[in-house]
Amino acid sequence: MNTSHSASLFARAQRVMPGGVNSPVRAFRSVGGTPRFIDRAKGPRIWDVDGNEYIDLVMSWGPLILGHADERVVRAATAAAARGSSFGAPTEAEVRLAELVIERFPSMDMVRMVNSGTEATMSAIRVARAFTSRPKVLKFDGCWHGHADGLLVKTGSTGMQYGVPDSAGVPSAYAQETLVATYNDLDSVTGLVERHGDELAAIIVEPVAGNMGVVPPASGFLEGLRRIADTTGAVLIFDEVITGFRVAPGGAQERYGVVADMTTLGKIIGGGFPVGAYGGRAEIMERVSPLGPAVQAGTLAGNPVAMAAGIAVLEALAEPGVYEGLESKAAQLTAALSDAAAEAGVTVTTNRVGSMFTTFFGSGPYMNADDVSGADKEAYARYFHAMLENGVAMAPSYCEAAFISTAHTDEDLDLIAAAAGPAFAAAGGR
Ligand SMILES: *Cc1c(COP(=O)(O)O)cnc(C)c1O
Repeated sequence: MNTSHSASLFARAQRVMPGGVNSPVRAFRSVGGTPRFIDRAKGPRIWDVDGNEYIDLVMSWGPLILGHADERVVRAATAAAARGSSFGAPTEAEVRLAELVIERFPSMDMVRMVNSGTEATMSAIRVARAFTSRPKVLKFDGCWHGHADGLLVKTGSTGMQYGVPDSAGVPSAYAQETLVATYNDLDSVTGLVERHGDELAAIIVEPVAGNMGVVPPASGFLEGLRRIADTTGAVLIFDEVITGFRVAPGGAQERYGVVADMTTLGKIIGGGFPVGAYGGRAEIMERVSPLGPAVQAGTLAGNPVAMAAGIAVLEALAEPGVYEGLESKAAQLTAALSDAAAEAGVTVTTNRVGSMFTTFFGSGPYMNADDVSGADKEAYARYFHAMLENGVAMAPSYCEAAFISTAHTDEDLDLIAAAAGPAFAAAGGR
């Protein structure tokens, strides 16, 4: 496979951007090799600048549930851009998208649009603090909520102490307001709440974890968090930036029947444009400026082009049978991948919820960050490169989710499974 144009662009990029990229995982650091620079994409397929074609399972890390450059989304976005790309004044499209979101998420009485998932979680936490007049936030090791200072924290395996920053540049005073518990382990939450319950403003969780690979909530985990939040008076925030409109129309809270106090959204609701949103019960959202004292604003928030794209996606997702189709395609693909791995004599464990899944190299189970860190990264890197050579683009890291879109056909899934046979053989594994 010729990748010379990507290689020369990567060389240029590294001179002008840190690591040559605008988001670190794109740099291929954990799998090695040259990141592909993308020229264009359509449906489930993506083409790099050297003209190589791939079936895509990254799908821009989740937003593209209808596939790349879906006609309905392209039409809506171009029409909106032609009418003016930003006004700094309210538009009907914002009202429409907010209504569509609230219709699907009964736990949200009101919603505020922002420009990214990071902004959504950062703002939701500010509002939860304003609502409770308490300082601390509890998150889970392995959950990613974007790059706001207080959320760049985990504690690795111990999981039961004050946070330490994961990133340089985060004052430890910020990190100390973040408590870190172990995913799927209610005892680790109870232990922290016994000591800090009175100071706890919010519990924030990915109700299906998607950023340590896909890790589903164990039975009773989300219900337990709901109970603990009720007991302590903390605001329960479901970070559904990936899972919203992905694992069910109403996100994980619909799929698992657990009601959040606040919800953060992003990815799918922007249709591939930069959008985030946070919302919740009226009494909480009434704390947001200009109704309340919690300040949060944005020049491009509720951007008309992004709103138009988001509306087109949510309307397409409302058609009958969409989620059943996604579910059965993803089940079919993961079954085929498991067969291919078994045939190659490689032990893998697949975690799947709806149309998001991760193939971990190892026997599992993978139910928290510690488990995941035990999966075989080197085997994944070999698998990743073999898949890429065979025309399938996966995430360039062993602990990320793969995404199926409505644009992936049965034929595409067969091609992926056919590529996986030799890729598993190349991966080997322990
Ligand atoms: C992607 C993601 C974010 C951050 O969203 P950005 O748009 O990248 O800032 C936050 N939370 C979760 C669960 C995510 O997957």
